[in-house]
Amino acid sequence: MTKFSDLNLSSDIVQAVTDLGYEEPTPIQAAVIPSLLEGKDIIGQAQTGTGKTAAFALPMLQHIMPGKRVVQGLVLCPTRELAMQVAEAMTKYGAARGTKILVVYGGQSYDRQTKPLAKGKVDIVVGTPGRIIDLVKQKYLDLGTVRHLVLDEADEMLSMGFVDDIETILAETDPKQRQTALFSATLPHQIRRLADSYLHEPETVKIEAEALTVDRIDQRFYMVNHDDRLAVLTRLFEVEEMERVLIFARTRLDTGRLASELAIRGFPAEALSGDLSQVAREHVMKRFKEGRLKVLVATDVAARGIDVDNLSHVINFEPPQFEEVYVHRIGRTGRAGATGVAISLISPKELFRLKKIERYTNSQIREAQIPTPEEITAKRNARLEEQMRVWINRDRCAKEKETIQALIDEGNDPILVAAVALKLAQSEDKKRPIASVSPLRTERDRGGRGNRGGGRGGYRGGGRGGNRSGGGYRGGGGRSGGGGDRRRSNGGNDRRRNRS
Ligand code: ADP
Ligand code: MG
Repeated sequence: MTKFSDLNLSSDIVQAVTDLGYEEPTPIQAAVIPSLLEGKDIIGQAQTGTGKTAAFALPMLQHIMPGKRVVQGLVLCPTRELAMQVAEAMTKYGAARGTKILVVYGGQSYDRQTKPLAKGKVDIVVGTPGRIIDLVKQKYLDLGTVRHLVLDEADEMLSMGFVDDIETILAETDPKQRQTALFSATLPHQIRRLADSYLHEPETVKIEAEALTVDRIDQRFYMVNHDDRLAVLTRLFEVEEMERVLIFARTRLDTGRLASELAIRGFPAEALSGDLSQVAREHVMKRFKEGRLKVLVATDVAARGIDVDNLSHVINFEPPQFEEVYVHRIGRTGRAGATGVAISLISPKELFRLKKIERYTNSQIREAQIPTPEEITAKRNARLEEQMRVWINRDRCAKEKETIQALIDEGNDPILVAAVALKLAQSEDKKRPIASVSPLRTERDRGGRGNRGGGRGGYRGGGRGGNRSGGGYRGGGGRSGGGGDRRRSNGGNDRRRNRS
């Protein structure tokens, strides 16, 4: 397993991504970071959401010495949103070095962009091609000092008609001084041609999307408030027959917390984490394989070592960041002709993730209703009845029969005696309160859901620009939930504005 610290990155940068919760580099990051650090030109091809930003941003930040009073790095993005996202991410990654990043795009006042440039305060410019050309023409921006240039989402820039602009910008830079990287989801002919003319002996890295095998899996999701995840999970455990369950949590800390909370609520679970000794790990794994332990909680990284794939359920306690990861996770159920169940707990703000997953897997994840207290009580009673049948068949209750006989001999109705016994047994169940779940929080968030039910075409048709607006950062992703639909619907306008 590759770590960030294996990629020749400096320690402050490794620290920055670790602080952001990145456990390990994504495939495209592992593949291109060392080459970019060596100074090579790169063509990187990978789907949306595979972490391309950090793949080019980390080496660029490491190469650039802040405070030289000239623009050393340039990142071209197709839209204002993407430029802002990239600049925001780069600012976080480079915070410890104090690298100054300026984002420029059409529609924004020139003042905010020209002042820092005039003062020589900018190390890296991230922006849309149209505005960058404007700034160059007006002599606010000198690209002759650029050492590191990135064309992000090149295919998107192409389809928006930015090719001439890109060539104009490239012509302003010094090819001998410039390292150039091009990132794209697809590599149509014109992009290759662009790469041939402007990249110097580029290394091409292509990350293939993983094969999709989700046909046999019953994919469900439950809409929950963020804080209610655990409560909803325990309710699901009450009603579902879960034979062998793997729960995916985001962090190691979450896995431990989740396992102990489940155990407290009467559902024995254990966390498989890197903190365990090898021996302890193997012990947990063995019990899980033999069916003595039914519930295992793990992060994606920890789960990689689990060689058990005949799971009855895979549960996404939180939806994964990447669509590929979702496929990888749920692929551990529904194997070898069996049907499996994949359950995802989704907060309203995370709906966009689900949509991306559906698009990526070309499959449908159906919304299911959280079990109500009534359903849970009914299930508990049915279970008790079932257990009674088992014991009636076994007839190994000599002692208990004596007690019952004594009560009947006192003149009590046998049916009443049995009913009282049952009531007492049920009162045991009542000692385990049913976890309370609050109503979904805001109506506005639910609006996104209405959209969903209204017609699946609604968001499918959003177009690529739309997809991207959903792909937020770990920290900021939440924000885009409610607003995502809004942005999606006028994505076209944004684009046009960007051309200005
Ligand atoms: P792309 O440009 O390929 O579409 P992004 O660079 O926008 O993808 O990354 C998508 C999301 O994944 C972002 O929220 C980002 O913070 C997150 N991310 C990137 N690299 C990692 C990583 N190594 N581990 C965890 N999350 C990551
Ligand atoms: Mg990107």
